[in-house]
Amino acid sequence: MPAEQICGLSSMGKAQDLLTVTPKGLFCKEGNFYVDPWKPVDHAVITHAHADHARWGSKRYLAADTSSQVLRIRMGDKANLSFQPLGKSQTINGVKVTFYPAGHILGSAQVKIEKGGYSIVVSGDYKRNPDATCLPFEPVRCNTFITESTFGLPIYRWPDPQTVFDGINQWWQSNRESGKTSMLLAYSLGKAQRLLSGIDSSIGPIYTHGAVEKLNAGYRDSGVALPETTFVGDVDAKETDWSQSLVVAPPAAVGGSWAKRFGKMSVAMASGWMQIRGTRRRRSMDRGFILSDHVDWRDLMQTIKETEADDIWVTHGFSDIVVRHLQEQGLNAKVVETEFTGETLQEDAEPSQA
Ligand SMILES: [Zn+2]
Ligand SMILES: [Zn+2]
Repeated sequence: MPAEQICGLSSMGKAQDLLTVTPKGLFCKEGNFYVDPWKPVDHAVITHAHADHARWGSKRYLAADTSSQVLRIRMGDKANLSFQPLGKSQTINGVKVTFYPAGHILGSAQVKIEKGGYSIVVSGDYKRNPDATCLPFEPVRCNTFITESTFGLPIYRWPDPQTVFDGINQWWQSNRESGKTSMLLAYSLGKAQRLLSGIDSSIGPIYTHGAVEKLNAGYRDSGVALPETTFVGDVDAKETDWSQSLVVAPPAAVGGSWAKRFGKMSVAMASGWMQIRGTRRRRSMDRGFILSDHVDWRDLMQTIKETEADDIWVTHGFSDIVVRHLQEQGLNAKVVETEFTGETLQEDAEPSQA
């Protein structure tokens, strides 16, 4: 057996000593904590505030301090949350835990866990494209890198975000000229605020669904600059001329009675899935804008290289394809089954927040 293979196998053993996949989630036995557990546990370390990573019911949570506002909004007053500054380490039962920015949404962080000279980075969800609403992803050297693969196919290649924002501005402008409300659908946490920060707010008034407005407040409280927005529920729908406005809402809001008040509208969605022809049509959208908070294929491969990790664990998405590709490059890679969902076309916020 060639030397590098023996070396690879032995390091794989070390990774499993430090972190294992259990029915409750990724578990660090030594440190007695879970990372983004999908079942309630005693001690949960959280990468970011999206619902598939930050679940209710655990006794204690630890997260990066940049996520404090949005995590509190998502988890409620009763959750026992504590926060740690980015780049500062804490030792939990002999295991060193450090958070690094992941560039996915405000407060999103990679979790590095280390013991005895061996390190694992759990990246949660991440992206490399610019995003004014959060700190950029920082590549972290490690022995084992755990990565998502939501858009892990070579066909996924993101356009420059600025050209996407230009397209959204033009769409809004032309809807105004034809007297239609511009309904822009996006996740209420992360995507909605990234859109708001990137569009040209001088075009017209901006209204928001309650689920979006609630998180806007968390972003503003965290020091992120967003244009002025008005919660739809705060205005008299009959007295309002919606035709000049942009309305930002989660995808689930548009099917029900909530959207009827806006009259004639053009409906668009911003998502990585919009790169695939037919997604927009199937979701009965008028326009689709390609904007994702996850890495495309090129950035996924580049990031894996930058971590210099010997072992790659691939989670939610096109994990089989990514693993096969990495193995062909001579890396130790394996699929790790988790309950994370990636960028689904369903919204995770409750429509009742209208
Ligand atoms: Zn996420
Ligand atoms: Zn996710």
